[in-house]
Amino acid sequence: AKSAGGNRFELADPEVDARTITRHGLTTALPAALARGEFFIEYQPLVHLADGSVSGAEALVRWTHPQHGVLGPDRFIPLAEHTGLIVPLGRWVLEEAVRQAHEWQQRHADAGPLRINVNLSPVQLHHPHLVADTVEVLERVGLEPGALCLEVTESALIGADDDLLKPLRRLAEMGVDIALDDFGTGYSNLANLRRLPVSVLKLDRSFTQGMQRYPVDPVDLKIVEGVVSLAHSLDLSVTVEGVETGAQAEQLRDLGCDTAQGWYYARPGPPERLHTLAMVDATG
Ligand code: C2E
Ligand code: CA
Ligand code: CA
Ligand code: CA
Repeated sequence: AKSAGGNRFELADPEVDARTITRHGLTTALPAALARGEFFIEYQPLVHLADGSVSGAEALVRWTHPQHGVLGPDRFIPLAEHTGLIVPLGRWVLEEAVRQAHEWQQRHADAGPLRINVNLSPVQLHHPHLVADTVEVLERVGLEPGALCLEVTESALIGADDDLLKPLRRLAEMGVDIALDDFGTGYSNLANLRRLPVSVLKLDRSFTQGMQRYPVDPVDLKIVEGVVSLAHSLDLSVTVEGVETGAQAEQLRDLGCDTAQGWYYARPGPPERLHTLAMVDATG
């Protein structure tokens, strides 16, 4: 009776318990979810700040869980990284997104080249087949490498040695763009940027958040200004994430940022929506 009571006491925190079950349940459900096609991708447009035209989109994965409904990537990507399922899942995302980009280009040559951004987990970065898999997908689908941008977080590359950078260098040499995602959160040595094979810097949302306050802290402005001028001097283009207001967009454009992404332009959505947005630009 005493041990039963003990057990019951352990289960008495329903929140902790539910969380544990869900985490474990989600982890074990991941492989079947991939096999059953429960994942889907939403696309969020990237916009040229100079004229507001769509330059491409970022692919963001979601999971339609049979019991829990649609789950965001923050709920399951860490679990998939832990079990290694991120490798086949990431390959699926890449192929799906590359196919979608190819379709946009086919149906829509007049809208200008639409580029596709795909997130790469550090686990994928360590996988020996990354370059071969990427080349294979691009060739099979028929998308030129220059239309693909792989996003790697700043924290994944901090202290990266040459072995880790080699596959990224090879992809960059082929024409694939590499973006440094969540830049500004990793405390990386700015001088270190020179040795990374990246061509795009994606300023983390924390930068743009500071610009929602009014008046904007002049120190925040100076920081963005400094990062942009450093990036440009290294021939990197600058994308800002999390742009939620027109005032932010204007300010970031004036500070010299190149492209932007955020709810002000569009939330992540189905691929057809990007089509419509790009059409609008093409027709003026
Ligand atoms: P991220 O790469 O930094 O992606 C941007 C996140 O910011 C997305 O969240 C997006 O929906 C959200 N966002 C966009 N605009 C705004 C805005 O104006 N305001 C605010 N508050 N948020 C905005 P999401 O889709 O939940 O993705 C979260 C993270 O999950 C991503 O962060 C990325 O690190 C990861 N992720 C998503 N898809 C994949 C994938 O296919 N593979 C891997 N490895 N990671 C992925
Ligand atoms: Ca990203
Ligand atoms: Ca980001
Ligand atoms: Ca982020």
